[in-house]
Amino acid sequence: MTISIAIIGAGPAGYYTAEAAQKQWGEGVRIDIIDRLPTPYGLIRAGVAPDHQSIKAVTKRYEATNLAPGTRLVGNVMVGRDVSVEELLGLYDAVVLSVGAPHDKPIGIPGDDLPGVIGSAAFVGWYNGHPDHAGLQVDLSHHGAAIIGNGNVAIDCARVLAKTVEELTTTDIAGHALDALSASAVRDIHIVGRRGPHQASFTTKEAGELGHLVRAQAIVKPGDLPPEAEDAALEPGHRKMVTHLRSFAGVARNEKPVTINFEFFRRPVAVEGEGRAQRLIVETTRLEDGRAVGTGELHAIPCGLVIACIGYRTAEIPGVPYADALGRFPGDDAGRVADRLYASGWARRGPSGTIGTNRPDGFSVVAAMVEDGVAGSDRAGPAGLDALLASRGVAAVDFAGWRKIEAAEVAAARQGAPREKISDIAKMLQITL
Ligand code: NAP
Repeated sequence: MTISIAIIGAGPAGYYTAEAAQKQWGEGVRIDIIDRLPTPYGLIRAGVAPDHQSIKAVTKRYEATNLAPGTRLVGNVMVGRDVSVEELLGLYDAVVLSVGAPHDKPIGIPGDDLPGVIGSAAFVGWYNGHPDHAGLQVDLSHHGAAIIGNGNVAIDCARVLAKTVEELTTTDIAGHALDALSASAVRDIHIVGRRGPHQASFTTKEAGELGHLVRAQAIVKPGDLPPEAEDAALEPGHRKMVTHLRSFAGVARNEKPVTINFEFFRRPVAVEGEGRAQRLIVETTRLEDGRAVGTGELHAIPCGLVIACIGYRTAEIPGVPYADALGRFPGDDAGRVADRLYASGWARRGPSGTIGTNRPDGFSVVAAMVEDGVAGSDRAGPAGLDALLASRGVAAVDFAGWRKIEAAEVAAARQGAPREKISDIAKMLQITL
């Protein structure tokens, strides 16, 4: 009997889970990949930086997964609004939550609600044309911008702010963001880390890229770097990343108009300003057993924009247990959440790792299904979902519909750019008709 699986979320985690299920059951499985947006690919489309097009090439693989017999995209359907998880469990033999972690972790400091303070999910979504964030007002009129966090998302945000329009025109950055950035007054970008260079979670390529920007110079304060001999204890990849940071230290200021200043050992304590963000107050820290401890010494970073790149939380779904302290669904390492209900990707393990980290995740969820004896049944599967959605007047967008949207985006591309993102869902739906 054919097994039916509903995967919620058409991002990397969802597609790798579908790929694993196809490998396991071949033509003996029906898979519906359900997404609230009419567009697939999740973080590849709306998270990966627009100037990292080579990473986005992985969508070819997801496309092949989606085009395999028995697998469908069911876009424009929001689980929790259009259909419940309970209903999906009634229709499918297994349900997988691959919904990522789309919400910003709050900073939780005084003044974090001032205009000008935003989270990276919103800022990244804005420059990537995500429908939720396309209308975000990003004020780029101040010369200073503070980016909180020492991970790759912080680097992505700094790089996008620092690049020239010419560097960005060949990317798929959203048109509204390119227009705003082309008039940007931002010149002093500060990447604020509460710990030091050895504790930063940047990767080598991302740190290295900051040394090759047309109009920006990356600057590390020599005094923030530990003695070079201590690098020997680092894992080789991390050591190489730190080598890039060292190359940004003790170098004379060049003629480039923009600076990316690494502010290590600085803990954000408040955002201040008259009616909007005008400065980020940070406290100098020192490390105690690897943890950042405040020294009481305060310092103000002038800025009109504060972007918190400090991690994400999974969105809650009615009827699904949620581990509030973890900001994701609870469950075991294999992705089991409840009977026949699984989670993969960031929704299972939190916001960490590369796109490829989601692949073993998908395979482990399918292995768990096999171990749990998930099998075909007389549940209605995809036909049952179609009937339910039709009864509610919900118009799903299938893969052919997405391809129409994609064709319209490619046709509208600026010269040299791969596509011009459409962010308006009503417009997308119009195109699919
Ligand atoms: P991340 O690597 O976990 O970095 C989060 C940063 O936020 C850490 O430096 C953390 O500091 C800091 N932080 C957390 N809470 C804070 C607070 N209250 N105050 C100050 N700082 C705080 O996460 P990410 O940058 O969001 O990236 C998520 C994942 O996506 C990562 O695995 C990343 O490598 C990946 N990613 C990859 C790429 C790429 O490959 N090009 C691009 C983007 C993202 P502590 O370390 O002190 O906790």
